Amino acid sequence: MVSELCDVCKKRPASIYQPHTGRKLCKECFIDDVKKRVVAEIKRWRMVEPGDEILLGLSGGKDSYVLLDILSEVYKPSRMFAVSIIEGIPGYNREEDVKRMKVFAKDRGVDVIVTSIREYVGHSLYEIVMRALRRKVRVSPCTYCGILRRRLLNFYARTYGANKVATAHNLDDEAQTAVVNILRGDYVGLLRLHPLAPPASKKLVKRIKPLRKVYEWETATYVYFKGYNFQETECMFINMMPTLRARVRDALYRLEWKKPGSLLRLLETLDVLLEDEAKNLATNALKECEVCGEPTSPKRSVCKLCELLERAGIVEAVYQVPNKYVPRLYRT
Ligand code: SF4
Ligand code: ZN
Ligand code: ZN
Repeated sequence: MVSELCDVCKKRPASIYQPHTGRKLCKECFIDDVKKRVVAEIKRWRMVEPGDEILLGLSGGKDSYVLLDILSEVYKPSRMFAVSIIEGIPGYNREEDVKRMKVFAKDRGVDVIVTSIREYVGHSLYEIVMRALRRKVRVSPCTYCGILRRRLLNFYARTYGANKVATAHNLDDEAQTAVVNILRGDYVGLLRLHPLAPPASKKLVKRIKPLRKVYEWETATYVYFKGYNFQETECMFINMMPTLRARVRDALYRLEWKKPGSLLRLLETLDVLLEDEAKNLATNALKECEVCGEPTSPKRSVCKLCELLERAGIVEAVYQVPNKYVPRLYRT
C-alpha cells in the first residue's frame, strides 16, 4: 500500500486506508480530512458560537489529544479551559499522564484544572467500587465512573461560568450510546443525544461532542501520525462486569468491520430523523435531588449518584469544588 499514491493529493505515498470512503490517504491528507470533518460537524450544529466559553473534558486518552489539538487550532484557546479528572483507579490515569496532558494543553494556550473523584465525593473510584462490592451491589464500576465524571464536568463548568462542555466522545462512543438507548427503549435519552437537544435543566451546561463523526481508529491514527504520547494503559475495571454497552460495542465493531461506514450512516440517519423533535425538548424537564440539589429525573426524589453512593455505604459525600483554582480566562 505504501508504494501507492494518496487518492487526495496524488503526490505523496499513501499511508492509510480509510475503509468507509474506500480511499488511500497520506498522513497529511488524513490529518486534514479528520480536521475538516470535525470543523464541518461543529458548524453544522453551531456547536461553537461567538462569545462561548468552553470547558474541555480531557481524560488524557487519544481522543482528548485530538479534541484539544483541533479546537485550540481552529478556535480561540483563550475562550477555553480544561478539566482533567483523576478517577483513582490503581495503575490507570496516573499523575504522569495528566501532567503530560497539562503540558500539551499549555503549549496550545489552554489551562487545565486537575481534579479527582476523591476530591468531589471524598473517595476514589476504586474505594467506591470496593465498598459497593462488599455490599454486593451489582452495579458496574463504569456506571459509577460515568455518572461521576459527567457530574464533575458540569459542576466545574457551572462554577466557572462556561456555557459549553466539550467532550472527546468519538463516533464509536456515540453509536454505542444511541443503540443502548434504543435497546433500553429510552426514546428521550436517544433524543437528548442529538446535537441540537437543549440541556434538560438550567443547572446542566450544554454539552458538545465535536468528534462525534470521527471513528475511534481515526483518532488513534491521528495521534500516532502526529507523534503524540498519550495514556495507553487499560483500566482494570473495563471487563469486570460487562454492561449492555460492552455487548453493543462488540456487536458494532463486528458490523463495521463487515460493512464499513455502518456506524456513520446510523448516526447520520438519527441526526436527520430526530432533529425536529430533539431541538424542541423541554429545558425544565428535571427536578432537584433532595440530597445534593443537582438535577434528577422527575420520577426520583434522590438523584442516581446519591442513590448509588448510598448503596455503596457512602453517605458523607463532599460535593464541592475542591480547589480555588481560577482559569486564566477569568483572572483579572
Ligand atoms: Fe471508568 Fe469504566 Fe472507563 Fe474504567 S473502563 S475508566 S471504570 S468508564
Ligand atoms: Zn495526500
Ligand atoms: Zn443527589
